[in-house]
Amino acid sequence: MAYGFDTLQIHAGARPDPATGARQTPIYQTTAYVFRDADHAAALFNLQEVGYIYSRLTNPTVAVLQERIATLEGGQGAVCCSSGHAAQIMALFALMGPGRNLVASNRLYGGTVTQFTHTIKRFGWEARLVDFDDEAAIEAAIDDNTRAIFCESIANPGGYITDLDAIAAIAERAGLPLIVDNTTATPYLCNPIRHGATLVVHSTTKYLTGNGTVTGGVVVDSGTFDWSASDKFPSLSAPEPAYHGLRFHETFGPLAFTFHAIAVGLRDLGMTMNPQAAHYTLLGTETLSLRMEKHVANAAKVAAWLEADERIEEVTWAGLESSPYHERVARICPRGAGALFTVALKGGYEACLRFVEALEIFSHVANLGDTRSLVIHPASTTHRQLTPEQQVAAGAAPNVVRMSIGLEDAGDLIADLDRALAAAAG
Ligand SMILES: *Cc1c(COP(=O)(O)O)cnc(C)c1O
Repeated sequence: MAYGFDTLQIHAGARPDPATGARQTPIYQTTAYVFRDADHAAALFNLQEVGYIYSRLTNPTVAVLQERIATLEGGQGAVCCSSGHAAQIMALFALMGPGRNLVASNRLYGGTVTQFTHTIKRFGWEARLVDFDDEAAIEAAIDDNTRAIFCESIANPGGYITDLDAIAAIAERAGLPLIVDNTTATPYLCNPIRHGATLVVHSTTKYLTGNGTVTGGVVVDSGTFDWSASDKFPSLSAPEPAYHGLRFHETFGPLAFTFHAIAVGLRDLGMTMNPQAAHYTLLGTETLSLRMEKHVANAAKVAAWLEADERIEEVTWAGLESSPYHERVARICPRGAGALFTVALKGGYEACLRFVEALEIFSHVANLGDTRSLVIHPASTTHRQLTPEQQVAAGAAPNVVRMSIGLEDAGDLIADLDRALAAAAG
């Protein structure tokens, strides 16, 4: 029988510990695992048997988290990584190669813009950032060397909702995998795979862990993409020399990407999640739906209050009637538009700095998805590496402050904002 989300967020992937009966998933704080015998070791190294060799590849605590997030996202498999940024490289690693490109939305987390426009060039990869509301521009950017389409479901920092159905249709016509960063929505608010995503990536640092304790990331594989339909994805469809000519797609079918990510990606790139981090994130997933309901309810109250305030120029929370993305909320993230949005202050750049400094409950930090309410001024921090045009395109203009609404009393948050706005004006 199919369990509901609240049941799965607590139970998926977990079972009482076979050695002790421990009900909570133990932290398997071990580097290596004793082989039963030499044949067992050989079978594991040949990928003929699934088991534990070394914790750079697999670890029982991390494996529970992988299965849990894959289940919540409706995927076939998942691989956890040391951070969200590591997960993004992991998602691209099997698809890309020198001279290849990806077509990505220009509305992305600032760190992702930097990773895509500067760092991946060192691998000979190129990212083409375009407006994902302009379907013709996306199609024009795709060429024979394109290997992936990339966007965020609820885009950081602006509260922009991507029309995943439309983007997935473009990806399908082009025979390309769609990668969706679902960090700010979480699987409770949005299931990109239902809208046609091939891979879903998360910074588990954010809502999945939920309390600002550990960094982590994950790539979830839908298992639905036919990697052998063209010769574009040789890492998954062609013989792999390091495994005696094994073809991942032919051998592992819908788990091809997941097996490749572990057997080649983690093996050689080493961007592994540690079991302590997996433990904290497992605890976080148990209450995900409860937290997201309250995050969204608080965001609705705070955004409505801000929108009505004369010191504010604009509030981008997509749940507001005034949002141009209001229609997409019902279709893409029906349980709510998340709790991350921006406010534009009439006072401009300097008022934003005074505002973030005057807040008492809200912390001024480079993070989101915490129980605590957080603010940041992107133009002077996360988005300061971008050009002014890129800042505006990314929803991070100089008079914009990003808010991540936490789980405190909404009335207290509003009082804090009211006081800080007064301080910013004075
Ligand atoms: C934080 C974040 C990332 C990067 O994740 P890290 O865990 O910080 O490496 C990527 N995408 C989005 C949307 C994020 O919010």
